[in-house]
Amino acid sequence: MKKKEGKSDADSDDEPDYFQYKIVVLGDGTVGKSSLILRFVEDYFGKSYKQTIGVDFFVKRLQISPKVQVALQVWDIGGQSIFGKMINTYIKDSHAVILTYDITNYNSFADLQDWLRLVQKAFEGKKMPVMALVGNKTDLFHLQAVDLKSHKGFADTNKLYSFFASARTGDQVNMVFFKLAAILSGVEFKKEVVQVSVSTISFA
Ligand code: GDP
Repeated sequence: MKKKEGKSDADSDDEPDYFQYKIVVLGDGTVGKSSLILRFVEDYFGKSYKQTIGVDFFVKRLQISPKVQVALQVWDIGGQSIFGKMINTYIKDSHAVILTYDITNYNSFADLQDWLRLVQKAFEGKKMPVMALVGNKTDLFHLQAVDLKSHKGFADTNKLYSFFASARTGDQVNMVFFKLAAILSGVEFKKEVVQVSVSTISFA
């Protein structure tokens, strides 16, 4: 099996392709970043899940087509604030960035301008990563504080793939990551993506 780093050129020979991508999940505290990642990697929602250390990344392998396997390295920036010293380092070599807000918290949506600016700064002079906008906590739709038009406007203006999800119910969570994996590897997205394995890597 051939191993490739962040390329999207599917070869025509019969050997399977193996791609590796880094995805960073950004957004204000409590929007549900850790919960989304945990739901994706372990299909679990834990109310008391908390970061105990600075940064975690999780690796999940997906078979996204008979010929293409993708290892997604998903980074949870945990307690890092937008002013954190290390944050630029985490962002600058990512292939995709997920900007996350809580649909019941308008400020968390407004603050995405700042998170976006941080990404733009980290990639200054370089090609921007694939970017997604995720409105999380759709199970709390009755408490929605951000209208659809604002969400769509922000996504369109900044060329972000648009999603709504709920880490609590799991709705659309896999879709976000599978879709990004497919876009990054240049494979047409199919529903029958399968998980191959998961590993969690933590360091202080
Ligand atoms: P982070 O600080 O962005 O990583 O947010 P967490 O993942 O720690 O979640 C913050 C709080 O929001 C926790 O109490 C979670 O249980 C809750 N939460 C996360 N995702 C959802 C969701 O989709 N729906 C609901 N109702 N609560 C959520």
